[in-house]
Amino acid sequence: MLVRLSILAAFVAGAACAAPSDDADDGSGTGGKADGSSRFIEVDPSHSNPTFRTYIHKALDLLEADRSELANLTLKSIEGGYVKIDELSDLTCEDFLRVAKDLPDLHIQPSDYVNLTPRSELTADITNELDGYMWSNRIYVSRGQTSKRLAATLIHEVNHVVNKSEVGYYDDLPTSAFLHEYRSFYAESQFDPEEYEGIDLVDYVITNYELDRTKIPAAILAAPLTPILLPTPDAWRERDVDSDVETPGDCSP
Ligand SMILES: [Zn+2]
Repeated sequence: MLVRLSILAAFVAGAACAAPSDDADDGSGTGGKADGSSRFIEVDPSHSNPTFRTYIHKALDLLEADRSELANLTLKSIEGGYVKIDELSDLTCEDFLRVAKDLPDLHIQPSDYVNLTPRSELTADITNELDGYMWSNRIYVSRGQTSKRLAATLIHEVNHVVNKSEVGYYDDLPTSAFLHEYRSFYAESQFDPEEYEGIDLVDYVITNYELDRTKIPAAILAAPLTPILLPTPDAWRERDVDSDVETPGDCSP
């Protein structure tokens, strides 16, 4: 289980200590479709590779096989390009700086960005802490998750994107963070109920994000689920990701 020092380590889906994976990529796969096409858009398409595409495609297959509206709409959101997906070694400079700030124990410097490569120690350190991360319409996932958990992580992070969590999260802490995480974990648990069997999601979110329960109104703890639960076409029309403004970061060596 990930121990987070602060609630700023946000947008993390589920437990970070990945169990041995039944489908962890070993670099040997041919991957992708025969023509090398992809069913999703990468944050950094210049760093694409077949094993990563296969890793994501297997999770998309599970979303496709699931009959729920939630899985179906999440898949359509991904295939429709409403979100971009990449691995943690392909963080943009700006997102890298945010992750660095969210994980103070790693003592990451902006100039370390040059070391953010697929097999580096830096990437391993970050992957140990995070299963998923999002900012704006960019979703990053760790390698080594099972297809089921990866699909659940995608549901979690797509829910954050459609709810603009990177903004709303900080509106009224700790309540706002609680609401955003509860909603994403609830969505995730609808898809993968076994993972959350016997778990009280309210307690789970409060504990994992080290939120002060006494500062969250009792009425909210009693009715913690707020919109938007489903990434519908209407929800995406409201959530105009193209209008997001990015402040350029500096990761120069
Ligand atoms: Zn989250």
